[in-house]
Amino acid sequence: MDGGVDKFDLVIAGGGIVGATLACLLDGLAVRVALVERRLPDDGEMPFQGSELRFDPRVSALNEASRRVLGDVGVWSGVRAVRCCDYREMRVWDAEGTGSIHFSAAALGAESLGTIVENSVVLAGLYERLRGQENLTVVSPFTSAALESDGDGTILIGDCGRRLRASLLVGADGGNSAVRRLAGMPGRERDYEQEAVVTTVRTGRSHGFTAWQRFLDSGPLAFLPLATAEDSEFRHSSIVWSTRPEEAEELVQMPEERFCARLAAAIEHRLGAVESSDRRFRFPLRQRWADHYAKGGIVLAGDAAHTIHPLAGQGVNLGIRDVAVLAEELRAGLAAGRRLHDPVLPRRYERRRKGDNLGMMWTMAGLRRLFGPQPPPLRWLRNTGLGFVDRAAPLKNFLARRAMGQHSRP
Ligand SMILES: Cc1cc2nc3c(=O)[nH]c(=O)nc-3n(C[C@H](O)[C@H](O)[C@H](O)COP(=O)(O)OP(=O)(O)OC[C@H]3O[C@@H](n4cnc5c(N)ncnc54)[C@H](O)[C@@H]3O)c2cc1C
Repeated sequence: MDGGVDKFDLVIAGGGIVGATLACLLDGLAVRVALVERRLPDDGEMPFQGSELRFDPRVSALNEASRRVLGDVGVWSGVRAVRCCDYREMRVWDAEGTGSIHFSAAALGAESLGTIVENSVVLAGLYERLRGQENLTVVSPFTSAALESDGDGTILIGDCGRRLRASLLVGADGGNSAVRRLAGMPGRERDYEQEAVVTTVRTGRSHGFTAWQRFLDSGPLAFLPLATAEDSEFRHSSIVWSTRPEEAEELVQMPEERFCARLAAAIEHRLGAVESSDRRFRFPLRQRWADHYAKGGIVLAGDAAHTIHPLAGQGVNLGIRDVAVLAEELRAGLAAGRRLHDPVLPRRYERRRKGDNLGMMWTMAGLRRLFGPQPPPLRWLRNTGLGFVDRAAPLKNFLARRAMGQHSRP
């Protein structure tokens, strides 16, 4: 502490999956790191761990590239040991059932297309791994409330008045990033006019290690397979139902029995009846992207830099790739004798990540529009196109490999 300011070389604002992964990736570097988080996951936030038949309603479909990063920092084997579910197939179809596409790991020579994990399980693994990391201080509770800069770097000020100085400040504080706002980093935003209803359900039939997604006129509905030792029939799925805000409100409020019947009909009873549902939550969906990921000694990563629709489950995968590239650039820069606040490092990071993130964002926007309500001639064209993609193995495999993260070697 110096003049009421705690001094660090690098401060990560936001300890979600992206920020905490970055902290792990910086282990062993000769820099003092602070990871700042409003509320740590074990502050009463882990009601799902230790309970076999309840799941965290927030899950992510991690691709191969993300699993590799988590493996490299020694977290993935612990996550697997708790519970997760590999899915080998993905079936996507439209409201009328006339346009459809089927992805299979076997056709790609892979064991799985991805792995569904509960966010709280990944976070628990990350924080367990961070315990005792020598160059790291976890600062929590701390809510970023203001920024100042002086000759030595950026000062992040918490609402408690605590001040942390950093040569490099990384904003990994999610879609509503305080760092992005306080630093005045311009960006764009689009309201999807949809909310996601998430919950866990038990179905009459096994999910068959398949991710199911039907595009309704009001938005996509996904069933993501879950696995736990107590469910030998594999009948639990995590639901992400994106729809109009009025319908989302209705879906959350309606009695469980009615919700289950409506959900089973919406997925065309592909998994039989929906027998039970856990508590339902709503998340507003917005598309956001920062024009630049770097400004002076501040960089953005993960949802703070880009927030996309959850329909292809790519948000956290992009964020993990961001911090893998950022850590790589910082390591290489420091090894070459550069300082952390050298503007070359954030610029290289931005150059390597922005195209990939924007590409994925516009692909998601295109898919949403493609599968949304269309007049009959366009609908026919879309279904014919989908049928073509489904039969054209090279194109289909290209799309699948991209979603699996096989095009990126961070
Ligand atoms: C319904 C839904 C389903 C999704 N499904 C998938 C999926 O299947 N696969 C996938 O890859 N992605 C998915 N996503 C997207 C994914 O959840 C996000 O991309 C991911 O959580 C972003 O991680 P992050 O660490 O950047 O941000 P966050 O997870 O938002 O973490 C930000 C952290 O910063 C902290 N914070 C925020 N503000 C402050 C502040 N002022 N001071 C201090 N701390 C602060 C927060 O407490 C939080 O811990 C889904 C999203 C939604 C809404």
